[in-house]
Amino acid sequence: MIIIDHYSIKHDSTKNAFRIENRGLPVCPDCGQPLSGYDTRKRHVIDSSGAVRWFLLRRLRCSGCGKIHLELPDFIQPQKHYESQVIRETLTGLSDHCPADDSTIWRWRNQNNPPGLHSAFDPGAVNSTYIDTKEEES
Ligand SMILES: [Zn+2]
Repeated sequence: MIIIDHYSIKHDSTKNAFRIENRGLPVCPDCGQPLSGYDTRKRHVIDSSGAVRWFLLRRLRCSGCGKIHLELPDFIQPQKHYESQVIRETLTGLSDHCPADDSTIWRWRNQNNPPGLHSAFDPGAVNSTYIDTKEEES
């Protein structure tokens, strides 16, 4: 896996997902050789308002050692579906969001969340609407 911090985000309407376009040249963290596109993986990210957005992440293949590396923009946490900022704010006590389970995520995804990408384009513009999922489930 490689984490990139210099990229642009484009919406791909045919895939209904956002593409991450790396502005740098990715190199293999193991051997330093250039990486080239292999395939893509679709994954979702939840921002602090509970809105789910889908991203197409590239998997890159090393021209030297042949390993496959997932290319992650720095606002996505490895192994997590929440934006880095949401996790950071939760961990530091700045935010009172609860981690959500899969059924909650599924429900959020099927709600009519307004589109927009404030937090990805401008980390300062994350809104902090609190969704109390425990209350809805009781
Ligand atoms: Zn390599």
